[in-house]
Amino acid sequence: MSYAKNFLQFEKRSELSGPFPAFALCVLLLLIVGSAVIVWFVPQAMQRAALESALKGNIDIINQVKLMRGYYTEQVVSRALATKTLTPSMDHVGKPDEIPLPATLVKDLSDLMAKHETQLSLTSPYPWPQRADRKMDAFESASWAIFQRNPDQIVSERNVVDGRTVLRVAVSDRLTSQACVDCHNSEAQSAKTDWKIGDVRAVFQVTRVIDDELASVQRGSRIIVFGVLAGAGIGSCAILIMLAIFARRTRDRRAADHNAYYLAEHDVLTGLKNRSKLREVLDRTFAGSEKQDYAALLMIDLDGFKPVNDTHGHATGDQLLVTVAERLKSWAGPNDIVARMGGDEFAIIKAPPFSVENLDAEIGRLCTHLEMPFEIDGNNLQIGASIGVAFLHQDAQNTSDLFIATDLALYSAKSEGKGRWRHFCPEMTATALRRMQYEADIKTALTENQLHLHYQPIRNAETGEVVKLEALLRWQHPRRGSVPPSEFIPVAEETGLIEAIGGWVLRRACHEVAAYSDNVRVAVNLSTRQLTSEKVVETLAAALKESQLAPHRLEVEITESVMLKNDHRTLHLLNEIRRLGVDISIDDFGTGYSCLSYLQTYPITGLKIDRSFVDSLGRTGSATAIVGAIISLAAALKLKTVAEGVETAMQVKELRQLGCMAFQGFYFDRPKPIGQIDMHPAAKEAS
Ligand code: C2E
Ligand code: CA
Ligand code: CA
Repeated sequence: MSYAKNFLQFEKRSELSGPFPAFALCVLLLLIVGSAVIVWFVPQAMQRAALESALKGNIDIINQVKLMRGYYTEQVVSRALATKTLTPSMDHVGKPDEIPLPATLVKDLSDLMAKHETQLSLTSPYPWPQRADRKMDAFESASWAIFQRNPDQIVSERNVVDGRTVLRVAVSDRLTSQACVDCHNSEAQSAKTDWKIGDVRAVFQVTRVIDDELASVQRGSRIIVFGVLAGAGIGSCAILIMLAIFARRTRDRRAADHNAYYLAEHDVLTGLKNRSKLREVLDRTFAGSEKQDYAALLMIDLDGFKPVNDTHGHATGDQLLVTVAERLKSWAGPNDIVARMGGDEFAIIKAPPFSVENLDAEIGRLCTHLEMPFEIDGNNLQIGASIGVAFLHQDAQNTSDLFIATDLALYSAKSEGKGRWRHFCPEMTATALRRMQYEADIKTALTENQLHLHYQPIRNAETGEVVKLEALLRWQHPRRGSVPPSEFIPVAEETGLIEAIGGWVLRRACHEVAAYSDNVRVAVNLSTRQLTSEKVVETLAAALKESQLAPHRLEVEITESVMLKNDHRTLHLLNEIRRLGVDISIDDFGTGYSCLSYLQTYPITGLKIDRSFVDSLGRTGSATAIVGAIISLAAALKLKTVAEGVETAMQVKELRQLGCMAFQGFYFDRPKPIGQIDMHPAAKEAS
C-alpha cells in the first residue's frame, strides 16, 4: 500500500476546460468553417448566377428579335409580296422599292447591335445564296446537330476571345408560319421543297461580351468575401481574447487554490506535511486498510533544540529545523510520510513492508544521524532526538489513540535518558494514568491544604546555636500518607506545578519564621525551573513584603545545575535576588561536576557540602581531603559553609577540625513543624 498515493495530488488540468471554453471553441470552429465555406462557395455561386443571367439575357435578345422578325414577316413582308409594291431582298440598301428579307432584317439588326458588343447570327448548313460564304464553326455545327434531335434545347458556350469573355447562346430557328414554309418550298435555291411548320431552318445565336457583368459580380463577391473574412477575423480575435482572459483567470484562481491547498496541508517552514494532513492520512488508513497492512508511526522530539534556539536566535533555530527535516526525508522511504507536528516535534509514517527488527536498526541509524553536528551559519550545532514508536492496528485502532501511544512511548524514551527510542507497550498507559492522577493529586494538595512545612535547624559549629532553619516541604496525602518531596517535587518540576508550589513554600516559610522568631534566618529550596523566569524575583519580594521578614533573614538554596546553564539570564536573576538582600547558597555542593569558576562569576554567599561527602568522612581519606578542599575554597571566596547530613559525633569533630562553619543533620535535629523545634544551643558535643 502506498501512503504517498493516498494524497490528493493537485490535479494538473488544462486551463481551458469547462462549459464556457467548450462553447467558445465551438463558436470559433463554426466561424472558421463557415467563413471558409462562404469564401469558397459564394464567388462560384455568384459567377454561376451571373452566367445564368447573361444566358437569359442572350435568350431574351433572341426571343425579341424573333418576335420582331415574325411581326415584320407577317405585317410587312407578306403585305409587300401580296401587293407586289415592294420586293423583299438581301440587298435593299439604297433601293427604294426593296425592303429587307426577314433574315436580312436579323443581319441588319446584328450590325446595329455590334456597337453594344452583341452579335446576332443565323447559320445553317443549307447553301442559301446570301450565306453561301459562311461556314458553320464547331459550336454552330454542334448546335445544329443537337437541334436536329431536340429543337427546344438551348446550347451555350463561354470562351475567351482577345482577352475578353464571350458568351454564345444558340437556339433553333424554326419555321413558324405557313408563309415562310411556302416561301422556303418555292424558293429556287432552297435545299429541299418539303419544308413544313416546326422544321429547324437555322441556328439562331447571340454572341455577347459579358466581361462587365462578370467583373461586377467579381467585385460583389470580393466585397462579400472580404466582409465575411473581416467579420470572421474580428469574431475569432474576440473569442481568442476572451479565451485568453478566461485561461488567465482560471490559472490565477487555480494558483490561489493551489496555494490554499498547499498551506492547508504543509508546514510552511520545512515544506513537510503538517499535523492535520498526517491526521487525515492516518484517519483514512484506519478507515480503509487491511489489518496486515499495518504501518508504524514514529513521533520524533528533538533533544536540546530549545537551548540552541535561545542561544543562537530563531533564524538559526528555523534553519536547524529545515535541516532536520531534510535529514528525516533522506532517511524516509519513498512511500513514507514525513510531517512536522509543530515546534521541534516531527512524525513519520513508516509504510509497510518492514520487519520490526529492521525498523529498530533503521530508527537507531536515524537517532545517530540526528546526533551528528549541524553546520549552520558557521556554528557547529549538536542536538539529538528521542523517538516514540507505535504500530497502527496493533497498538491503536484510531488516530487519536495512536497519537497517545506514540506520545507515551516518546515520553518513556525521554524519561529514560535522551537520544533513545521506545516502542509503545500497554504498561505505558498505566504509568501515564498513574502520573496524571499524581499530577491531579498535587494540584489538590495545593488547594486543600495537604502541604505543610517542616524545618530543620542549621547550627553554628562552635556554639551549637540555631542560626538558620531550612524549610522542607511535606505532603500529607489522605490516601497515600506522607509523600516524600524527593518523589513529588520532580513531578511538579516536569509539569510546571513547581511554580505554584515554590511560591507557596516561599510565602509560607517567610510567614511562619517571621511569626516564630525575631532573629532566626530561613533557607528555602528553589528548583531550577523556578529560576527560568523573572517571576521568582517578584515572588520573593512579595513573600518578604507580606511576612515583614527582613531580607537578610532569607536565604535561597539552589543547585549547581542552575550554574551549568551559564547564561546571562540566570546571572541576571541571581543578581536581582541578591539586590533584594537575600542570600544564595549552593545546595548539595560537590555533586554537580560543574566548573568551579562560576563561584566567582555568580553572586553566591554560601556552600552546603553534600551529604555524601559528610557521610564518607572518617571512612575514606579522600572524603576528608574533598571536604577540606571545599571548606578552604569557601574560606578563600568568603563563602559560608554548612555541612549537610551530619549524623555522627565523629563527623562533627572532623568537620570542626576542617573549619566548617555550620552543621545540619539528624545528629542534631530532625525536620519538624516550626512549633516543635528545639531552639536551644546543641548540647551534644563532639566525642
Ligand atoms: P535537600 O535540600 O538536600 O534537603 C535536605 C534533605 O536531607 C531533607 O530531606 C532532609 O530531611 C534530609 N536530611 C537532613 N539531615 C539528614 C541526615 O542527617 N541524614 C539523612 N539521611 N538525611 C538528612 P527531605 O526533606 O526528604 O528533602 C529531600 C529533598 O527534597 C531536598 O533535599 C530538596 O532537594 C527537596 N525539597 C524539599 N523541600 C523542598 C522545597 O520546598 N522546594 C524544593 N524545590 N525542593 C524541596
Ligand atoms: Ca536544601
Ligand atoms: Ca542538600
